[in-house]
Amino acid sequence: MRPFDYLRANALDDAASKAGDGAQFIAGGTNLLDLMKLQVMTPETVIDINNIDGLDKIEPHEGGLKIGTLVRNADLAADPQVRRAYPVLSRALLAGASSQIRNKATTGGNLLQRTRCPYFYDPAMACNKRDPSAGCAAKGGVSRMLAILGTSAACRAAHPSDMAVAMRALDARVEILGTDGATRTVALDELYQLPGETPEIETCLEPGEIITAVILPAPQPNATQSYRKIRDRASYAFALVSVAALVEMDGETIKTASLAFGGIGARPWADAQVNAMLEGEPPSEELFGRAADVLLADAVTDEGNDFKREMTRRALVAVMREATGMAPASTGTDKVEALT
Ligand SMILES: Cc1cc2nc3c(=O)[nH]c(=O)nc-3n(C[C@H](O)[C@H](O)[C@H](O)COP(=O)(O)OP(=O)(O)OC[C@H]3O[C@@H](n4cnc5c(N)ncnc54)[C@H](O)[C@@H]3O)c2cc1C
Repeated sequence: MRPFDYLRANALDDAASKAGDGAQFIAGGTNLLDLMKLQVMTPETVIDINNIDGLDKIEPHEGGLKIGTLVRNADLAADPQVRRAYPVLSRALLAGASSQIRNKATTGGNLLQRTRCPYFYDPAMACNKRDPSAGCAAKGGVSRMLAILGTSAACRAAHPSDMAVAMRALDARVEILGTDGATRTVALDELYQLPGETPEIETCLEPGEIITAVILPAPQPNATQSYRKIRDRASYAFALVSVAALVEMDGETIKTASLAFGGIGARPWADAQVNAMLEGEPPSEELFGRAADVLLADAVTDEGNDFKREMTRRALVAVMREATGMAPASTGTDKVEALT
């Protein structure tokens, strides 16, 4: 590991004033420290934000919830309000990593964890994300864990977070504090930038900006929520494909649908067209198949990850069958109760 300065921030303005070029905030450290040991990330300064008061709370907010950036993944998954009103989030969190890591990992750190593309993790390999204009060793390489949507010629890395997929389906917003002291909130699709020709730019965050919270909108009391993750091992493995779904029925018709996908996108993936074509329709295998066609229309695959097309299609159909009552509900699906 390269030498670096360690600074501890005691307040948000303190953190912002300490942050400059070459600085990284550290929260749980479960991703940053691994990357520093591999010299994939080499910050000159690491600013510890764990001492800042008030960032570890989950509070009611405008009918929904405000989740402080330092709320640990384990605490968020176990929170009674989350389990009752946003079970999709609780399930996505519990599908990620291990209990030890979830005890340490934070909400903000989980959102900003880096891709698990094996070429990004290996400094001996060319990677445009790690080293702009170096090239992409993933071309013609092992692509099993790589994205098939939102990729570019410069980068095929997938976003690894399970939590962010559920948050995308929930239409969560991220609260950001700027170095000028101003706060803004952005939707997840705005937070995460697609790679294009600049895969090293992953988010809309400016240097020194800090995520302070995630805001969940008011829950949908009548929606069925589910999270399904398909992976190589039953635990401790990143998603090959995952689906988060909130589906509300009106009699025999789908009233609202919000789907998001993990393992396949350069960012947690959602497609407004897919949701819209499901709404107002009676559930059927044929409808779900058409939705999968639309979702995957722009997918770019190679021999190593072409299986993700069929896997995504089957996951979408299975989740929608369950959520619309076409098949008996099984583990992974909950009815929402209103927040009290
Ligand atoms: C073996 C293993 C298996 C895993 N499996 C999964 C899995 O299946 N699914 C999954 O989703 N995840 C998985 N993870 C990833 C894990 O969830 C992340 O490492 C964790 O969520 C990162 O959170 P952290 O608080 O430790 O972040 P840190 O490592 O502290 O930070 C990560 C990044 O976020 C930045 N950052 C942190 N907080 C802020 C903030 N408030 N504002 C601005 N920047 C900030 C840091 O500067 C750093 O760049 C796994 C990790 C490991 C090691």
